[in-house]
Amino acid sequence: MFANGLTYLAIPGPSVMPDRVLRAMHRAAPNIYTGELHEVTRSVIPDLKALAGTQHNVAIYIGNGHAAWEAALSNVIGAGDTVLVLATGRFCVGWGEMAEGLGATVETIDFGNSNAVDLAQVEAVLKADTEGRIKAVLTVLVDTSTGVLNDIKGIRAAMTAAEHDALLMCDCIASLGCDEYYMDDWGVDITVSACQKGLMTPPGLGLVWFNDKANAVREKTPKVSRYWDWRPRIDADEYWKFFDGTAPTHHIYGLREALDMISEEGMENVWARHEGLAQAIWAAIDAWSVEGPMKINVANPDERSRAVTSLSLEEGQADALRAWCEDTMGVTLGIGLGRTPASAFFRLGHMGHVNGHMVLGFLGTIDAGLKALGIPHGKGALDAASQTLADLARARGTACGGKAKAKVDQCCG
Ligand SMILES: *Cc1c(COP(=O)(O)O)cnc(C)c1O
Repeated sequence: MFANGLTYLAIPGPSVMPDRVLRAMHRAAPNIYTGELHEVTRSVIPDLKALAGTQHNVAIYIGNGHAAWEAALSNVIGAGDTVLVLATGRFCVGWGEMAEGLGATVETIDFGNSNAVDLAQVEAVLKADTEGRIKAVLTVLVDTSTGVLNDIKGIRAAMTAAEHDALLMCDCIASLGCDEYYMDDWGVDITVSACQKGLMTPPGLGLVWFNDKANAVREKTPKVSRYWDWRPRIDADEYWKFFDGTAPTHHIYGLREALDMISEEGMENVWARHEGLAQAIWAAIDAWSVEGPMKINVANPDERSRAVTSLSLEEGQADALRAWCEDTMGVTLGIGLGRTPASAFFRLGHMGHVNGHMVLGFLGTIDAGLKALGIPHGKGALDAASQTLADLARARGTACGGKAKAKVDQCCG
């Protein structure tokens, strides 16, 4: 009834694509052999490294997040190797299954669906691995099925405390560019991501960052599939000419534009925007949860992502709410992926190209849906969300007054 107009995708990827990115892609196919495309490709490399917080290497593949998973594994994991999966939802388990498909033995520590990785348990398991069987630890910065945010720096500290020298591999697909991440400082050896979530580009680019330690393991890996091998992809001469197949021409232009948008805003401001918007969403959920069945999946705010939120109602209600929001209001919410019963869970994507009015829009839509469907809920969710945004904006204005001139211009300008 109210759906005609601009539809809105509030799912955890693909995220909302900025017009600027789409316009940058709307062009004639470029010459792939020489010229501008090579320059644009060259220009995204340092920006991608800065985004992940690394000075090391980045390889670009045509593919989605699953492709980046397989690319990363294929370079360092082979038949007979053992990997340790730190499961906080469906996604890290999926990465482990992929390792299994490549012939690896998978050991899993399951931390359930509502808590971050318990560091003491990781340390104990690695300490018990006295023969050093575990070659890599697979973890996710954010598990998109649960909205759990993990302490990656703490996981590396647990590995160090256990005196274990496995590779630390981190999936940042959900929230690179949304939740803070520092690959080198946190001691991550391999990071994987994809372009369609925080990076605001249509699905199609898989990204793998790796350091020298990971590359040394690659050198000793007996067989690496030719397509996934990262070595030619960091060799500028080979890469610019051949891209290991046809270049992802338009995606490179789209990604270039998205990276420009991030650098114009400033990484810290992008993180702060995601932080504030997440707080507004949590405030609304807190208000709804006062009465009725609604629950936020992760109770501890320190263990929540700023990019995706998982919440639940009673069986069947989440599906009904999603259908109502889409059919009646033109807002699509995320499914209860990997959860049981799936029809009780739904997710909100708030990653990338998202601002205050978008968040208030989908929160208002959910509020209307709860009313229309007669699902009991606490009142005042929109009030709580708008108050949160107002308070944060005011506090930021005041904070800017005390900062250096450059910062003032950046955040208050
Ligand atoms: C989206 C996502 C994936 C999978 O990415 P695809 O592009 O759908 O293959 C993997 N891990 C996490 C954490 C994700 O958010």
